[in-house]
Amino acid sequence: MPEDYKVQNQALKIGIVGCGGRMGQALVGVVLDHPKARLSGGTEQQDSLRVGQTIRHPVTGADSGLVIGANAEQLFENSDIVIDFTCPTATVMHSGFAAKHGTVHIAGTTGMTPEDEKALHHAAKTVPVVYAANFSLGVNLLFYLTRKAASLLDDEYDIEILEMHHRHKVDAPSGTALGLGQQAARGRGVDLGQVSDRVRDGITGERKRGDIGFAVLRGGNVAGEHSVSFNAPDERIILSHKAGDRAIFARGAVKAALWAVDRPAGLYDMFDVLGLPKE
Ligand code: NAD
Repeated sequence: MPEDYKVQNQALKIGIVGCGGRMGQALVGVVLDHPKARLSGGTEQQDSLRVGQTIRHPVTGADSGLVIGANAEQLFENSDIVIDFTCPTATVMHSGFAAKHGTVHIAGTTGMTPEDEKALHHAAKTVPVVYAANFSLGVNLLFYLTRKAASLLDDEYDIEILEMHHRHKVDAPSGTALGLGQQAARGRGVDLGQVSDRVRDGITGERKRGDIGFAVLRGGNVAGEHSVSFNAPDERIILSHKAGDRAIFARGAVKAALWAVDRPAGLYDMFDVLGLPKE
């Protein structure tokens, strides 16, 4: 592609479903600023008051020349790639549109059940799908370091995962915290379902050796903080990540979008995008 892709109209057409949401707005900013991307449109839920409003740059307020629509299928049809940070029911529906119209689907929605995820697996037979609980480079590095540390430390080291998010978050533990639990379990060669300890309240009894514990905090406008601690008698190792702004997830999602567009159909994650070792 030539350098001034936007001017020559060769930039990739990226649509954003849920463009009025917290992540949606961050994505609008990153796409509008990106030299190789062109915003092809944005949608919101049918009954949202935002439908019909102008899509503006979240920082500069600049008018994109587009208005928020409610027809997600049309957006998939008119885009090379659609980025989707919405809610599980919407993401399941969107993955059907991606497969039908041959559109790359970048899915960041969390709280998806294994049943919901089947829709992404199905779409991935036809189109590239990048699905990740966390699109930031730093958190994916944390995933890798967590797996590595868990593979080197035995169960004398109690693994505890702590996360904090803003007061509006609706699912808990966060998708990222669960992802960290998966990585820790993989590193240790155990099944997370067998060892995860998600709720502690009242007389819980002593901690079970080998368990992976989760704790959740909610409040303010925290974009996302995660730590994994390995706790043995007399020493603790703590790996942590703090997201200062949602733009880190948006930048990662756009990076994934530009990476995925030339790939064959398949289900990818950020380890694929960033070239991090999977084993
Ligand atoms: P939000 O509630 O601010 O935004 C979601 C938006 O999606 C809302 O504007 C909502 O109206 C819209 N929406 C819902 N159904 C829709 C539909 N059918 N069509 C179009 N729009 C629809 O939430 P948020 O904080 O932006 O987070 C969105 C999702 O992304 C959550 O699941 C969150 O956990 C996840 N998230 C993932 C990452 C990551 O890196 N993977 C990072 C941050 C947030």
